[in-house]
Amino acid sequence: MSQKTIQHAPLNYFPYQQGRLHAAGKPIEQIVDIVSQTPLYVYDRKLISQRIDDLRSLLPEKIKLHYAIKANPMPAIVQHIANLVDGLDIASHGELLSALNTGTKASEISFAGPGKTDKELIAAIASHIVINVESENELKRINKFGIQLRITPKVALRVNPDFELKASGMKMSGGPKQFGIDADKLPELLSSLTSLELQFEGLHIFSGSQNLNKESIIETHNKTFELAAELLSEPSLDYRFINIGGGFGIPYFPGDRALDLQPIAKNLQRLLSKYPQFKDKEIILELGRFIVGEAGIYISKIIEKKESRGTTYLITDGGLHHHLPNSGNFGQLIRKNYPVVIHAAVKKADSKTEKVTIVGQLCTPLDTLADKMELPLAEIGDLVVILQSGAYGKTASPEHFLGHKAVKEILL
Ligand SMILES: *Cc1c(COP(=O)(O)O)cnc(C)c1O
Repeated sequence: MSQKTIQHAPLNYFPYQQGRLHAAGKPIEQIVDIVSQTPLYVYDRKLISQRIDDLRSLLPEKIKLHYAIKANPMPAIVQHIANLVDGLDIASHGELLSALNTGTKASEISFAGPGKTDKELIAAIASHIVINVESENELKRINKFGIQLRITPKVALRVNPDFELKASGMKMSGGPKQFGIDADKLPELLSSLTSLELQFEGLHIFSGSQNLNKESIIETHNKTFELAAELLSEPSLDYRFINIGGGFGIPYFPGDRALDLQPIAKNLQRLLSKYPQFKDKEIILELGRFIVGEAGIYISKIIEKKESRGTTYLITDGGLHHHLPNSGNFGQLIRKNYPVVIHAAVKKADSKTEKVTIVGQLCTPLDTLADKMELPLAEIGDLVVILQSGAYGKTASPEHFLGHKAVKEILL
C-alpha cells in the first residue's frame, strides 16, 4: 500500500484561476455556452478516474471495487466508471439495462433492493447477473422463476446484521429493516439452499451511507468479517464472494473532515490475514457517492436579487427540483450549506462580500440553495456554483415539481 492521501478540498478539484472557476480545464461560462443552458451539472471524468486510482492504490489489492449506479446513473458516467471498476451494483430494471449496456460481465453485476417485481427477477435471471436476495419469500420466487426459465439463478443473501454502521448519514441495518434477511434467520436459510436450484454466490452485508467516521467504519468491517466467518463456517458451503458494503462519505459541510482511508485500508489488510478462510474468495466494496460525489458541480444563474426585511436574496433559475440534497431535504436532520462559489459574469474590481440567502424558482421555502452565507458581491447574470454535487443530484430530485425545464448534464 502506498502512503498516498486523498485531497478533499473542493477548490483543488475545481480550481479558481484568474477569477474564474474551472472545470475539466475550462472556465465554467464556456461550459455553459457548450451546454447552451443553465441550470446544468458538470462532471469531470479525470476526477472520477483519479478517485478510483487513489482507492486502488490505498486499499489492499485483493479488495474488489464496485460502483453503485444509483449515486449517479448518467449513462456516460456509468460507462466511464464501468471501465475502471470490477463490477456494478444496480437497484432496478432500468439500472440493469444501464449496467448491461456498459459491457460489464453479468457475473460482476449485482441487484439489490427490497421490492423486486416478478419482471425484474426474470430479467435478472435471464441476464445471469447476481441477485442480492432480501427476503425468504424472494428466494422462493427466484427459485420458481429459475425452474421456469431453465436457468440456475445466481444468488447472494443480503444480511440485515444485528449491528449498525454508527455515525452514518443513513442507517441501513440493525433492528427491524426492509433491507436484507435478519442475521439470525441466515443459518437455517443457508442450510436449506441445497434443496433449491440456485447457485449460491455469497453474502451481501451493507450497513449504511455517508460515513465520515473512520472508527465506526473500522468497527463495522470488523463485525462484518466476524459475522461472515460465522455464517459461512460450514465447510460444505461453497461461495464466491463477500460484499462488505461501502458507506464511505465525503465532506459537505463546515466542520466535516475528509474520511481518513489509510487506517481503514490497514484494518482491511489485517482482517484479510486474520480470516485466511477468505483467501480464495472475493471481498467486494461497493461505493457510490465516494466515487462520483466530489467530481460534480451544479450551476444555476441568478435571475433576481431582492431585499426582504434585512435579508438579501439571490434567486436563481435552479432549485431543489434538480438538487434535493443541497436543499437539505434528502435525509438530513438539519439543513447546512454546501460549499458555494459565485462565478461573476464580469470580473469584479473590488473584493466586497455580502451575506446572502440563495433560493431557487420553486414556490416553497424549502427551495434554499444557500442560507445566510458570506459570499462575494453577486449580481443578476452571475452564476451560482454548488460544489460536491456529483452524487444523488438530478435523479434523486423531484424534477417534475412545478414543471420547470429539466437540468442538463455533461461529463467532460
Ligand atoms: C445506495 C447503495 C450503495 C451506495 O451508497 P453510497 O453511500 O452512495 O456509497 C451501495 N450499496 C447499496 C446496497 C446501496 O443501496
